[in-house]
Amino acid sequence: MGAIWESRRGAAGYDLCVADCLFCKIVAGDIPADLVAESDRTIAFRDINPQAPTHVLVVPKDHYPDLATLAGTAEGVLAEVAAQAHQVAHAEGIGASGYRVVFNTGPEAGQTVFHVHAHLLGGRRLAWPPG
Ligand code: AMP
Ligand code: ZN
Repeated sequence: MGAIWESRRGAAGYDLCVADCLFCKIVAGDIPADLVAESDRTIAFRDINPQAPTHVLVVPKDHYPDLATLAGTAEGVLAEVAAQAHQVAHAEGIGASGYRVVFNTGPEAGQTVFHVHAHLLGGRRLAWPPG
């Protein structure tokens, strides 16, 4: 069953729900994902191409293209993304051993999906600096 794509605009005037966005489709349930957590405004699901034993993406349900738009316009949602990443880390058993939360932002950082997402990575020793 397809989602009903209605135009909802955020404070900055752009759509909060984008029909051709991969992660909006996952949020809507139109594309399957391995969900590990959900709150009113966020979901967390396993990355399809994991780079560590735990590799989970935490995304706002509303569409924000990148960290800049999320940080600039979405009151409290960025904090919910961070809190959910922390909760999932604990649920995955890496809360104490350590984990990394990354927002790839823009082309030089390698962002490929322009619906903001936090990568939660852990379960192995993570190198620094990153590649
Ligand atoms: P980024 O390159 O930072 O934009 O991250 C996008 C991430 O989305 C990559 O790590 C991909 O492996 C992941 N990804 C792409 N398609 C899917 C999918 N259908 N389900 C889960 N993760 C995905
Ligand atoms: Zn989206």
